[in-house]
Amino acid sequence: MRIRLVEVIRLDLVLLHSLRTSVGTHARRPVVIVRIETDAATGWGECSALLEPNYTEEYADGAERILQEFLVPSLLAAGAIERTLDACLATMDCVRGNPMAKSALEMALLDAHLRESNRSLAEMLGSSRRAIDAGANVSLGSRDEVLQATELCVAAGYRRVKLKIAPGSDVANVEAIRATYPDLLLCVDANGAYDLERGDDLAALHALDRCGLTAIEQPLAPEDLLAHARLSSLLETPIMLDESVATLGTLDLVIALSAADGLCIKPARVGGIRIARAMHDRAVAAGLHCSIGGMLETGIGRSAAVTVGALPGFDLPGDLGGSARYFSPDLTPAHELIDGQLLVPTGAGIGVMPVEETLRSAQTSSSVFPAL
Ligand SMILES: [Mg+2]
Repeated sequence: MRIRLVEVIRLDLVLLHSLRTSVGTHARRPVVIVRIETDAATGWGECSALLEPNYTEEYADGAERILQEFLVPSLLAAGAIERTLDACLATMDCVRGNPMAKSALEMALLDAHLRESNRSLAEMLGSSRRAIDAGANVSLGSRDEVLQATELCVAAGYRRVKLKIAPGSDVANVEAIRATYPDLLLCVDANGAYDLERGDDLAALHALDRCGLTAIEQPLAPEDLLAHARLSSLLETPIMLDESVATLGTLDLVIALSAADGLCIKPARVGGIRIARAMHDRAVAAGLHCSIGGMLETGIGRSAAVTVGALPGFDLPGDLGGSARYFSPDLTPAHELIDGQLLVPTGAGIGVMPVEETLRSAQTSSSVFPAL
C-alpha cells in the first residue's frame, strides 16, 4: 500500500446514557478518529481512550498527541512509498505502551489494506458467526436505579446485562435484579474496587457467588494477579479479567497462576485487532472463556469489535450494544439490535464507513499529515 496522507480528527460526543462505574462517570465522549488515504482506498480507525485516565492510564488528549507527535510521523517517515501492511504496522514499535492510540492507527491501516483488495475483516480473521449476542451495561447506582435501567435494557431486547458494582452497592442490587428477572444472563463488573484484605469485601464477594452470575469481572485491582488467583480458588462463579490483561505476557502470567477463568477482551484496550486475536487464541488454548468488550465506541470501533467478537472462542456474552445505547446519530449507519444480537459486518474492511456529514459536524479539530 502507498499512503498519501493521514488525518487525525477530534470529535466531542455526548453519550445518550452516561455510564457510572466504581472509578467515575463517563458522560462526555471525546473520540479521536484516524483517516488514512492510500492510492486505492480510504481506511478509518477509532481511538477509544476516554476523557480521563481512570479506566486505564490512557486518555483522549494524551492519545491524540501520541498519534500526532509520534505514531503518525513514524508511519510517514519513509515518505509516499509502496510498503506491505506489516512494514506499516511495524512503524508503531517506536512507542512503548499506549495501546489505545496504536489500535486506532492499526484499525485505519487494516481497513485501508483490506479495502484495497475488497476483503472483509471477518474474512481476514476467520470470524465465521453471522451475528453475536449483544449486551448492555448498567451503571452503578441505587437499587431502584439499577432495576429501572435493567428494565429499559430488557424492554429494548437485551438478554444479557453487565451490572457495575462497588462495595456497598452490590449484593442487594444483584438480588433485586435476580428477583425480577430470574433468567436474565447477569454478570457484575467491579473495575477493581474490592480488596481481599477487607473482610466486608470478601463477604460481599462470597454473597455474589450465590447469585447465579455468569461472571464476576475484575473484582480486584488490575495489578493484583495473586489475589485474583486466591479469589478464583474460593469462588464457584467464573472470575473474568479485563483491565488486568493488557499484554500477551500478562495473559501468560494469568494462565500460569490460574488467576482467572475468563477474559474480557477489548481490541481497543489491548492494542488492536491483531493482539485481541492473539489473546483469544492463547486464552482458548489454555481453556479460558472469552467475552468481547466495548469501550463506548462509535459505529467505527464497534464494527471492528463485533467482528472480533464473532471468533469461535467468545463463549461468554459480550457488552456491545446497538447504536441506540450510545449515540444519536451514530457516526455510521446505526447498529440495530435484532433478536438480542448484532450482525457481523460483511463489507470490505471493517465493513462500515462514517457518515461524513455527521462526522464533520461533531468535529472540533483536525490535523492532516501528508506523506511527502
Ligand atoms: Mg470491565
